[in-house]
Amino acid sequence: MRGGHNQTHGDIGRYRKLDSFYVAKFLRAIKAKGEESLVSYDKANGIPIVIGMYSMTYDGIKITFDFLPCGFGTNDRCFILCPACGKRYRYLYLVKHNGRHVPLCRKCAKLNYPSQQITHGVDECARRMERLLQDKFHVITEDLTPDDALWYFPLRPKGMRQRTYKALMAELRRAQEEYHDAFEKALKEALCRL
Ligand SMILES: [Zn+2]
Repeated sequence: MRGGHNQTHGDIGRYRKLDSFYVAKFLRAIKAKGEESLVSYDKANGIPIVIGMYSMTYDGIKITFDFLPCGFGTNDRCFILCPACGKRYRYLYLVKHNGRHVPLCRKCAKLNYPSQQITHGVDECARRMERLLQDKFHVITEDLTPDDALWYFPLRPKGMRQRTYKALMAELRRAQEEYHDAFEKALKEALCRL
């Protein structure tokens, strides 16, 4: 459905999001350390995220986990429930509301997927991978195609602290995963048009 009404809605590409698939990493760390919770930070917004085994809080807003089995011998996949409607999602978008960043599902946040956004998504994700590799890891990426960048595993540059390297690697992996997802979506769309 397109038209005047939808134009008042936000463009989903402009919002940052929480990805429940990254929660598993924290849950493993919590188990390994034998602790009840871990504190992480949304660095872009300067907001603490407290992650427990069954739920987390983002700026004090509780987000409950929901685990789905995903095959024999593998860990259950973690999803998150939208704090507004309680439905299960992989992503919650951080929408500014009354000066606060509130995690909401796509529907509750009334976000659109404009038809152009998918193709932008691929290019934007490719540029993000490239920028990270060039600016942070000092990799010369002139000869690198986005598909090379997708699988690139940069070594720690001389003089970079281990902590910084780890954080940047996490950022790169996110960018790579988002590029992968955006590319698959664009490919599916293109196949549907045939
Ligand atoms: Zn919702």
